[in-house]
Amino acid sequence: MTIAPCYLLPQMPESLSGLTELALDLRWAWSHAADSLWAEIAPELWEQTRNPWLILQNISSQTLQELAQNPAFIEKLKAFSAQHQEQLTQSSWFEQNYAQTSFRQVAYFSMEFGLSEALPIYSGGLGILAGDCLKTASDLGIPLLGIGLLWQQGYFRQTLDENSRQQEFYPYNDPTQMPVTPVRDSEGEWLRLQLPFPGRKVILRAWQAQVGRVTLYLLDSNDPLNTPADRGITAELYGGGPETRLQQEICLGIGGWLLLRRLGIQPEICHLNEGHAAFAILARAYSHMQDHGTQFECALNGTRAGNIFTTHTPVSAGFDRFPAELMTRYIAGAPEAFGVDVETILALGRENPDDPQEPFNMAWLAIRGSIMVNAVSRLHGEVSRRLFQPLFPRWPADEVPVTHVTNGVHMPSWDSAEADALWTSCCGKQRWLGDLQNLAAEFRKTPDSLIWELRSKGRQQVIHFARQRLQQQLAQAHAPLEEQERAALALDPNALTIGFARRFTAYKRPNLLLSNPDRLRQLLTNPHRPVQLLIAGKAHPRDEAGKKMIQQWTLFIHQHPELANHIVFIADYDMLVAEHLVQGVDLWINTPRRPWEASGTSGMKVLVNGGLNLSELDGWWAEAYCPETGWAIGDRAEHDDDPQWDIQEAETLYHLLENEIVPLFYQDRDASGCPQAWIQKIRESMSRLTPLYSSNRMLRDYVSTLYEPAGRLLADRSEKSRIEEICNWQKNIRQHWPLLHFGDLHVRTENNRHYFELHVYLDDLDAESISVELFANQSDQYPLEVVPMQRGEALSGAVNSYNYTLDIPADRDLADYTPRIIPCHQNCLVPMESAEILWYR
Ligand SMILES: *Cc1c(COP(=O)(O)O)cnc(C)c1O
Repeated sequence: MTIAPCYLLPQMPESLSGLTELALDLRWAWSHAADSLWAEIAPELWEQTRNPWLILQNISSQTLQELAQNPAFIEKLKAFSAQHQEQLTQSSWFEQNYAQTSFRQVAYFSMEFGLSEALPIYSGGLGILAGDCLKTASDLGIPLLGIGLLWQQGYFRQTLDENSRQQEFYPYNDPTQMPVTPVRDSEGEWLRLQLPFPGRKVILRAWQAQVGRVTLYLLDSNDPLNTPADRGITAELYGGGPETRLQQEICLGIGGWLLLRRLGIQPEICHLNEGHAAFAILARAYSHMQDHGTQFECALNGTRAGNIFTTHTPVSAGFDRFPAELMTRYIAGAPEAFGVDVETILALGRENPDDPQEPFNMAWLAIRGSIMVNAVSRLHGEVSRRLFQPLFPRWPADEVPVTHVTNGVHMPSWDSAEADALWTSCCGKQRWLGDLQNLAAEFRKTPDSLIWELRSKGRQQVIHFARQRLQQQLAQAHAPLEEQERAALALDPNALTIGFARRFTAYKRPNLLLSNPDRLRQLLTNPHRPVQLLIAGKAHPRDEAGKKMIQQWTLFIHQHPELANHIVFIADYDMLVAEHLVQGVDLWINTPRRPWEASGTSGMKVLVNGGLNLSELDGWWAEAYCPETGWAIGDRAEHDDDPQWDIQEAETLYHLLENEIVPLFYQDRDASGCPQAWIQKIRESMSRLTPLYSSNRMLRDYVSTLYEPAGRLLADRSEKSRIEEICNWQKNIRQHWPLLHFGDLHVRTENNRHYFELHVYLDDLDAESISVELFANQSDQYPLEVVPMQRGEALSGAVNSYNYTLDIPADRDLADYTPRIIPCHQNCLVPMESAEILWYR
């Protein structure tokens, strides 16, 4: 027997080499231009997987030889390759609008990236957002690259056992089976980093995936030269205990930064998608110390201006915290990785730097090391300002420096082929590649019949998918043959189809609809107005409550054979399942406990396909909802996990469905059977909300409100002297602040104006380095007001003290106003970079 060498791919004939490039560019995950090519190569496999890379892996050399001899195929391939090249090089929105920019490169760090099922290195919303962000950067030509980890198992896969319980499986992610290639250095060697860890070096292998114009770099520790334990660092996403998590975050933040250094990439902007990646702040500062011979504090000031932190959690318990003792072991054990002493680092992760017991909070590090912080919806912005308030003592919550950029989804990835065709017919092929100004007006003209056709087609397709999955699941669970056969006929292509799919966990209340099983049964089985429900979702392996809720649904289905035609639980919720559901359902339901859904994005994915939303007024829906576009539950207040409130909301949910939603779907049908009022709602939802909740809008917001201003601040710090000046300013503020004080305040009101005169004693502080302001808090009638006072003459008989004056219209009560002093520096952000504040009272 001879042993044949094992190749990654079958030998590719020269004339077909273009196939490899097409299959390795994940652009196929959203651009379907070349689909017919793959369908021609392997029709069945294509239908089953929609994964060109898998097709290349499995194709026989004989088929390849045949294709190579087929002139028509070669012509077609050439045309697609040329088109692909053109898409990669055509002029972009970014080039056209940001010819002069403050930044040339953004590095986007994220623990997970959800780009396609072909690269299963994500768990849920956070990863999908990151994936959508890379795809959009490619569309818009934004110079962005991704940094992540190549998980050997990714997130678990789910099946349901005979007892309707969740079973977890961890298939191995074989890198040779995924559309990634090794990163090679200038000598052609596979790039491996040696990351200092306590007492050893951990080798990280570098991979890359191509996402259109964007490169995603991935690191993994599964190198045979590592110890078995170290090889497992990048095994399991969100698995393992605190130490494993810390190791993973060191690999992502510090390893990721060192990889960029090795590649000679110098990003101006480091965008930290959640606090997991915050160690990049330390690595970046350490590089600055080495390059410029500065101390840590200056290096942090010199680099902070380029760091942006996006927070995703609405509860403090969601922040990663590591015990001080564990942190100490890693920092002290690997000083070549961290570059600065234990105490300095620990202080950055603590609310009270002097408390040795306090654990290390990654979000605190992320805030202290970033110039701008954003939440992911307007409501989440308000919630985050309260969460981060402790780092800005005595600052009003409204002024805590956390802004928001509401999430969006990559519409070209989530639209169905039919939705794509409809949008193309009214808004053109290029519609997601530039700004979105005219989309709403153009789409609104779409006739009812076309919208209804889209819906009917979508519903048929998701039902087809659900039937197939149901049959597979029943076969796997050893269900009787008749039951398996009946599954082929489950569901009704004309019935109102509702989708509910998300992570199963208590705060999302996935069983709210199930709180009155009888009422639900009646709702579903009304013979004149049937309703059907498609459900999917995984519970984290350690979330027992979540698993119980899955079982509650699956048992309910099992125990009610009469509902087999009305409810299907689709196992193994992932991007593929999500895609089918959001393209097919008429209504998407979301029932989180406010304010625990920071944004939520699954409901945005139905917009482009003509699905409507019924959701709690939480996350994105709290700002998107209006009666013309969908339905809402909740009273815009927080009720925590009050069981009484849950009961009341379940009541509202049933009531809305029974009395408004189901009737609207079935009533008011025109001669050709189109429900006119329902379609009117779809039209409003599609035209108003789709552009607003697209990742195109989101990423353009990031560019204009965060990347671009941060880049300018960073550029100002390119001179060492500028950074030193900032360090001195901070130091002076800290030193002299305790001695600042106010003198007399005189106020009077005359001719409808308030006049203020205030004596201020500045100790030794330069008057330019502070600002004296009048502050009035937000009230029912008035917005928050901050007005700078003018520095007048020096006070006689006192050193470095001044009279500050101001007069303003006397609209508000005089007592609303309070003077205060805050730090001030032309090129720094306050309170982000200096959070002192002194109130008059
Ligand atoms: C979009 C998506 C999510 C995130 O949706 P939520 O609204 O946060 O529940 C999670 N998982 C998958 C597979 C998705 O496609």
